[in-house]
Amino acid sequence: MKIGVLRERAPGETRAALMPESVRSLVSAGAQVALEPGAGVASGVGDADYTGAGAQIEARDELLSSVDVLLCVNRPDDEDIARLRAGTVVVGFLRPLDETDAIVQLIEQKLTAFAMELIPRSTRAQTMDALSSMATVVGYKAVLLAAERLPKMFPLLMTAAGTIAPAKVLVLGAGVAGLQAIATSKRLGAVVEAYDVRAAAGEHVRSLGAKFLQVDLGGIQTEDAGGYAVELSDEALNRGRDLIAKHARTSDVIVTSAQVPGRQAPLLVTQEAVDAMKPGSVIVDLAGATGGNCAATKPGETIVQNGVVIMSPLNLAATVPVHASQLYSRNVTAFLKLMIDDKGELNIDLNDDVVGPACVLEKGEVKNSRVAAALETAPR
Ligand code: NAD
Repeated sequence: MKIGVLRERAPGETRAALMPESVRSLVSAGAQVALEPGAGVASGVGDADYTGAGAQIEARDELLSSVDVLLCVNRPDDEDIARLRAGTVVVGFLRPLDETDAIVQLIEQKLTAFAMELIPRSTRAQTMDALSSMATVVGYKAVLLAAERLPKMFPLLMTAAGTIAPAKVLVLGAGVAGLQAIATSKRLGAVVEAYDVRAAAGEHVRSLGAKFLQVDLGGIQTEDAGGYAVELSDEALNRGRDLIAKHARTSDVIVTSAQVPGRQAPLLVTQEAVDAMKPGSVIVDLAGATGGNCAATKPGETIVQNGVVIMSPLNLAATVPVHASQLYSRNVTAFLKLMIDDKGELNIDLNDDVVGPACVLEKGEVKNSRVAAALETAPR
């Protein structure tokens, strides 16, 4: 079996799908690994590091027409997909639910496709959970961005010139990214508060030494059976918004990371709340890709309103390419190994409780019911 990795071409992308340690592990499992020249250069890995780990370096065209498995971070562009042989397995962040249109070409090309986003959040699949890996990097980096932009320091300092008060950070959404933002803010010495609709998040927030802001939502259900937040009514959202607006007034930094899978991000920070913040305060909205948690957010941009900085970075993981690639490479390799037999050959079992749910297409046939439903309603 031949596994290929391209140099990622999406604008601003710096991550690589495989790092040398994973190449070594796949080669010792009996696979052949080939990479495009420069595939790891933006993540600090040279071609010689890959060949030293047992890989070959091959031109893009040659690689596309000969691989059995293509590992990627982002879905390859149409031109690359057109060069793959029917039946080639593609594994990566394929965005099958929010960019369903783009899946059509993979169907026409009769590819087999696995989306890293669809890997279940189960105990067995923890080592393959690339969403959590990237959210960890993003939550960390969001706080550093805010700290760099804030005209204050984070820690409490007692100096000969008197005391400097610590920065106040408010984190909205305490999933993987939010919890990492809390931990990073605490390490820098800030006083941290956090809000989430899931009751279980309260325990996690408090265990990191932050204060959990609670809203009485009248006992409504806020999470589904999988532990994900559900979409709330406007009335329930308004109760949260009021509390957030009150705390925003005294916050120096707000990091927002609230998401509801498959939906627009909930609006949590209203324009009135932004207007009432102190000049110099910073908002980092991590939900920009799904519309943002803040009314003032312009996805992908940094804007300033009455002295309040509102940032909405869309690919923060790519700003920490070495560790983001290392984590992603381990996740994707652990997943691929579920499909490699003891002779180093591909053996796909769609009845496996991780492989099956992550499968979008098998030889062009749609295997995921959510993707099938999205394809039916997707505009053409
Ligand atoms: P996510 O990116 O889907 O959402 C981020 C956070 O936003 C969540 O904590 C969610 O509750 C919160 N949120 C949604 N709507 C909100 C609103 N209106 N107001 C405030 N907050 C709101 O979440 P995630 O980081 O991907 O984690 C989702 C769930 O999966 C969590 O329960 C997490 O603990 C769980 N998880 C499990 C595993 C595992 O067991 N392997 C791994 C990672 C995450």
